[in-house]
Amino acid sequence: MGKKILVVAEVRDGEFRNVSFEAVAAAKQISSDGEVVGLLLGEKVNQLGEAFIAFGADRVIAVENDKLAQYTPDGYTQVLQQVVESEDPDGIILGHTSIGKDVAPKLAARIGSGLVSDVVSVEVAGEEVLFTRPIYSGKAFEKVVVKDGLIFATIRPNNIPALEKDESRSGEVESVEVDVKDLQTMIKEVVKNTASGVDLSEASVIVSGGRGLKGAENFKILDELAEVLGGAVGASRGACDAEYCDYALQIGQTGKVVTPDLYIAVGISGAIQHVAGMSNSKVIVAINKDPEAEIFQIADYGIVGDLFDVVPKLTEEFKKVLV
Ligand code: FAD
Repeated sequence: MGKKILVVAEVRDGEFRNVSFEAVAAAKQISSDGEVVGLLLGEKVNQLGEAFIAFGADRVIAVENDKLAQYTPDGYTQVLQQVVESEDPDGIILGHTSIGKDVAPKLAARIGSGLVSDVVSVEVAGEEVLFTRPIYSGKAFEKVVVKDGLIFATIRPNNIPALEKDESRSGEVESVEVDVKDLQTMIKEVVKNTASGVDLSEASVIVSGGRGLKGAENFKILDELAEVLGGAVGASRGACDAEYCDYALQIGQTGKVVTPDLYIAVGISGAIQHVAGMSNSKVIVAINKDPEAEIFQIADYGIVGDLFDVVPKLTEEFKKVLV
């Protein structure tokens, strides 16, 4: 039987984050010919409705309110709760992003629902929806079926492919007024501290540096390689702790979890806490001077050598074919 699935979009600086479209694709699978309702929250989000439909939403609800201009846990939770109560969906999908990780459990508690978090794939078998999610820091995967109540899940970015954009798709974009009570917190200003234009959690190529880089100034060789590959620069906690780079770049158990098509680990030993954040990358390349380094155990390709020789050579070779 067709289900109604609500998909909460993530919009940053007036643009969708890709995970919004991936969430629509997951919702389409789950709804099996039911209805996928996109939800946009923020200022001037109405104008994004048609793009959401082009990526597969059947109908879009736009809640415009200046109190939603920046994400706040209580603002979003209030609005989501009201929309869920009025729409009464069979399921809700959000991205497993900083916002999704924060708001989804709050909403689940408010509406008395369970939550399947950090889903990497969705299968439908008859009436059952099977979610696959990593456990034990990515060392194993479990399959979860929601037996009763709302199908509420957050999906990990870069795992479920979005549908092709099709501008011929049509659907209604509805502006909905929602009462947002006074917020407990207010964001006054957002100060961005990453130089790269590529969002780490959605990058298809990541060049990541560890303590082997030996200094902040040496990260420039990673910037150069990342630029040629159109990717983003990440780091191990070792590199962040040594102040070679900002913690915003940290990948791992206590940093960002990433799933790029290509992950190049440079001068990173492969500690379990780092691997927890990148082991699902599609292709992993490790560059390390120690042939016994743990990182080689999970790498698809390994280069044993001094990173200060290897990385500039790779950049030069990629330039010849890509630039
Ligand atoms: P190191 O382990 O020092 O490795 C440096 C590597 O560089 C070595 O393998 C060395 O052979 C190589 N190298 C050195 N010079 C060169 C050269 N010239 N050319 C090539 N290779 C070279 N870590 C994370 O990354 N992310 C996390 O989220 C995270 N969370 C943690 C949470 C907890 C609770 C704890 C306890 C730890 C956490 N850690 C995390 C830390 C983790 O355990 C490791 O200490 C850290 O990942 C090590 O960073 P590294 O690989 O850069 O440094």
